[in-house]
Amino acid sequence: FVKSAAMAGTEPEDDELADEIDTKVTLQRELQDQRKTLPVYKFKDELLKAIAEHQIIIVVGETGSGKTTQIPQYLHEAGYTTNGQKIACTQPRRVAAMSVAARVAQEMGVKLGHEVGYSIRFEDCTSEKTVVKYMTDGMLLREFLGEPDLTSYGVVVLDEAHERSISTDILLGLVKDVARFRPDLKLLISSATLNAEKFSDFFDMAPVFKIPGRRYKVDIHYTVAPEADYVDAAVATVLQLHVTQLPGDILLFLTGQQEIETVEEILRRRTRGLGTKIAELVICPIYANLPTELQAKIFEPAPPGARKVVLATNIAETSLTIDGISYVVDPGFCKVKSYSPRTGTESLLVRPVSKPSADQRAGRSGRTGPGKCFRLFTEHSYNKDMEDQTVPEIQRSNLASVVLSLKALGINDLVSFDFMDPPASEGLLKALEDLFALGALNSRGELTKTGRRMVELPLDPMMAKAIVASERYGCSEEVLTVGSMLSAGNAVFYRPKDKALIADAARQRFNAGNVGDHIALLNVYTEWEQSGHSAQWCLDHFVQSRTMRRARDVREQLVALLERVEIERRSGAGDHDAVRKAITAGYFRNTAQRRRDGSYRTAKSWRTVSVHPSSGMARVDPPPRWVVYHELVETTKEYMRQVTELKPEWLLEIAPHYYQENNLNKPKPKKAREQGAAAAAATERSLSLNDFFNVQ
Ligand code: ADP
Ligand code: MG
Repeated sequence: FVKSAAMAGTEPEDDELADEIDTKVTLQRELQDQRKTLPVYKFKDELLKAIAEHQIIIVVGETGSGKTTQIPQYLHEAGYTTNGQKIACTQPRRVAAMSVAARVAQEMGVKLGHEVGYSIRFEDCTSEKTVVKYMTDGMLLREFLGEPDLTSYGVVVLDEAHERSISTDILLGLVKDVARFRPDLKLLISSATLNAEKFSDFFDMAPVFKIPGRRYKVDIHYTVAPEADYVDAAVATVLQLHVTQLPGDILLFLTGQQEIETVEEILRRRTRGLGTKIAELVICPIYANLPTELQAKIFEPAPPGARKVVLATNIAETSLTIDGISYVVDPGFCKVKSYSPRTGTESLLVRPVSKPSADQRAGRSGRTGPGKCFRLFTEHSYNKDMEDQTVPEIQRSNLASVVLSLKALGINDLVSFDFMDPPASEGLLKALEDLFALGALNSRGELTKTGRRMVELPLDPMMAKAIVASERYGCSEEVLTVGSMLSAGNAVFYRPKDKALIADAARQRFNAGNVGDHIALLNVYTEWEQSGHSAQWCLDHFVQSRTMRRARDVREQLVALLERVEIERRSGAGDHDAVRKAITAGYFRNTAQRRRDGSYRTAKSWRTVSVHPSSGMARVDPPPRWVVYHELVETTKEYMRQVTELKPEWLLEIAPHYYQENNLNKPKPKKAREQGAAAAAATERSLSLNDFFNVQ
């Protein structure tokens, strides 16, 4: 009142408000107009009719036709949520779930987290109001545990089904079953590629609804000779396109965050030298761990006269559609998960993409007009080296986590589970053995109390076990912290090139006394917490504050879950061995013994591995004799990442069913060693499929 009196008469506040409302109305109108231009719009009524008539429908349409953003809205508008039931729309990728939810909230003119929300691991952005819920497929799988008939949902859209992620594959089997006893549940399986027949067959000949896409011609250019370094070639190609080609944005496919950051840096440096005659190049990275506020940037048009280049992982292949792309640069690689049931190792490897992937990538340039795709590989390589299909993730992953969830759902007979493409029985058996060794299953393959607690924690079974075991060692607080740090991502420290030595020293300080990487992570978190979660502290110690904040969020969620499984929160008060033992209780399979030449050999699987150069334990002298590690990564060699020293006698104490005295002896001569390996394999195999599947 005082304020408006002072502003006598003019009431500028009201004017501003009116302006703001005006802009909002205009923006909303534009958004609604845009919605009507999407290919799916013309088929809205037909689609709704088909959904009303059939319980299960396969929807196929080009990327960008509006499947993900529009169909849930159509269903909402058509009244599928009026009875209080929700619409679920699953995405294999975290970023896609968040980004699409944000867009849909904007289109519906609501606040994100209200009517429209998203749910991803360790982040729930939904509320009681939420009726349109985007979520990762992994989250819906978790919801099944608490609600096996999915009563709170009226419609489930399994989106991006062509990706064949492991969780989507399991969901396909589960929802098929639910649909049988819930005739009111509507199921939509949506795919960007034309392998729809397979989905239709799986769902007893469910009708396929095709949304004809708009696709312009795409000129494909190959390199004449193979490129030695595709990152260099990619940078050169992007710059050349920018300097020589007509306006239109560029999309470059890379394999991961690190590569994207490298290319971003090089491009920034090189464009600075181009002078003022050349248009500005706006560089937009997008990958899973990119902070949310930066994710939206890829969708913003470049300022007039400037050109945008999007540096993306596979996420831009079909999950996210970026408008205005005229040029695609495709090195033809992606990171794929690969798993060897024989050795039990899972690794991320950079591999050539499949032909359908390469074609999807090329297609991204022809959405709004004719496009050009520059493939940094030869035509011969496309025809001869690239696979015709991508192998479903379920056939190349460690299945322990999935098997644990299925067991928790009461699905005991895994062999007769309705898999669209069943995993190899070797992989299933290995998963059962792993879970048995972790104490999650008994010898009849039934879930134990430990197993039931592990299921509640949305973590890899090994980490879940470490946390459950921490109760016994009286250090749940510490193990929770270590687990949260490991879940928050690999980028805890940063190492600017010009300050590499100082950064290394700062980092090594957390490992003082060679406590090992796990305790070092604990030290980082504890100090950060003592600093009052200070960003300055992070800067001073070369720690990424983004990772720390994420670790804190993860930890908060885990704390809540710990209460649910009734694990007492206790601190080991500096007893590092207690923490190491709890870690070992989860990771006892991941142990290695030093050999005379300084390399390590993994216990039981007998692989030669090395300590990752980024590990605090890489330069310890003398190097520890026995170590436990978090994971193996394969680059030039096989490396153990996150390494801590361990006393071999712990293994007998912690995992007596897995290790016997003779596993821990000194390295044997080669012949005996081979026999030893065979014997170890034999004991491991002493449990057979029959024990687990109740096959008579
Ligand atoms: P589909 O699922 O069929 O591939 P989408 O529904 O994801 O198609 O995309 C439809 C349109 O919505 C595209 O033009 C895309 O650019 C736009 N869009 C999607 N997400 C966003 C976002 N976060 N910001 C801006 N535009 C978006
Ligand atoms: Mg989509």
